[in-house]
Amino acid sequence: MAERPYIVGNWKMNGTRAMLSEARAIDRSSQRLMKVEVALAPPFTLIHAVHREVEQIGVGAQDCHAGEEGAHTGDISAGMALDAGAKFVILGHSERRQNHGETNTLIGQKTVAALAAGLRVILCCGETEETRDEGKAESFIARQLRASLPDSVENVEDVLTIAYEPIWAIGTGRTPTVEDIGAMHRSIRAVLVDLYGEEAAQGVRILYGGSVKPDNAKELLAADDVGGALVGGASLTAESFLGIVLAAAELQDQ
Ligand code: PEP
Repeated sequence: MAERPYIVGNWKMNGTRAMLSEARAIDRSSQRLMKVEVALAPPFTLIHAVHREVEQIGVGAQDCHAGEEGAHTGDISAGMALDAGAKFVILGHSERRQNHGETNTLIGQKTVAALAAGLRVILCCGETEETRDEGKAESFIARQLRASLPDSVENVEDVLTIAYEPIWAIGTGRTPTVEDIGAMHRSIRAVLVDLYGEEAAQGVRILYGGSVKPDNAKELLAADDVGGALVGGASLTAESFLGIVLAAAELQDQ
């Protein structure tokens, strides 16, 4: 695992102000688990409120527009997310790709916009079950990354995180084997080294995401080159999310 694992909760389209107590509880407990970097990406409507509630954990957005401002009804720019209290943004999540037709090119433009605005980026990639069964998962992911990552990024190790999330594992309770996760993360690392050079690329954390729960977190986080986890369903309550954070902290102690 990475020197300081990164555990990020993606609340998706869940949460009203009634859920602020969960964010508070996650924040309080995270203050005692400093060896793990913890963050939450609530819906846009809660970014500012969560930002005001918490002291320790990071707060981020789940998407942003590629433009700075203008006539884009319903959209939010990176600068607006930053202004609301976000420090990072999740881009290229498979639900955005599937439900909103987001392409690698658009995700690349959003990445450039987010970094320019001063947000850190968690860039998601992931293959369908069909692509995995065809034995093409690694080449597919390499193509996704090369088509959406900028050629050069200043301080890439500080501002970029990759999240490998096989689509067939998201919200399904199914996960790849630790061997498959390790192989994919090594393959992603090779793409990063090719793009950004050995030294910088080694500092970029690669998260695993897809049905991470308290009871499988330790095994998944121990897979080769896993720098943390992007967590959907299990991030919605402090109890289950903190179970994952604790698993990461315990692995650090081993
Ligand atoms: C996700 O959508 O980013 C995710 C990992 O979801 P879940 O943990 O629910 O599979």
